Amino acid sequence: MTISSCIRVEIDLSFPAYLKWISVDYRGMMRILIIEDEVRMSELLRKGLYESGYTVMTAADGETGLEIALAHEFNAIVLDIGLPRRDGYSVAKSLRQRKSATPLLMLTARDAEDDIIRGLELGADDYMTKPFSFPELVARLQSITRPHRDETTIKIETGDLVVDPVHHSVTRGNASIELTRTEFALLGRLARSAGGCVSRQALAACIWGSDPSVTPGALDVLVSGLRRKVDAPFEHKLIGTVRGSGYLLKLQAATRSAAQ
Ligand code: CA
Repeated sequence: MTISSCIRVEIDLSFPAYLKWISVDYRGMMRILIIEDEVRMSELLRKGLYESGYTVMTAADGETGLEIALAHEFNAIVLDIGLPRRDGYSVAKSLRQRKSATPLLMLTARDAEDDIIRGLELGADDYMTKPFSFPELVARLQSITRPHRDETTIKIETGDLVVDPVHHSVTRGNASIELTRTEFALLGRLARSAGGCVSRQALAACIWGSDPSVTPGALDVLVSGLRRKVDAPFEHKLIGTVRGSGYLLKLQAATRSAAQ
């Protein structure tokens, strides 16, 4: 698509200098907010996403980013963790506490699994560690902004776990479990094949599509986060690893599938 083929209107909304409205696009292009304090990284992301057809807005600190995120609608937010005034964890937590469902992609220089899991637990939908490839970032953004259409409306119950694709809810016993979109897509895929191994390739394709630029480790971290929510608080562990092949959701007694 060429620039001349779209209607782009440059507007001045009189935002403070630290905000950058790049454009408003009336063709319904995806709107992305970048919260990143490193000028070169922010500019790289802004330019790359703009050239990929996204409408982009930037903020250079966490407090400003949170204000903008709450004041405007975005299809996704790219959120750095190390930020002045308010770190990325706090931004994610505040957004989720205020019931913002905007998908969050966290960027971090930290590749320690605990840091990544913490981000996912606070409501991030996905994460990437710096340095990263730009095509992979775009693939991840496409994944978290795409509705994960479940292939079934069948509610699946295995033991005390209930996965309900219609209401997008997960419970174990009396406990309601909050999952991100990507975690729900992963659990839903496992649940649809409960009792059998689902290959790593099939799981990755379900979550990120067939884009080869998504690194294999992303799946393992996502599974770790899912286990912390679905398995860690409970005695019976449901998510199993099939070494060298994939993962499975174990069947328990009283397993059944019930049509809605
Ligand atoms: Ca930073």
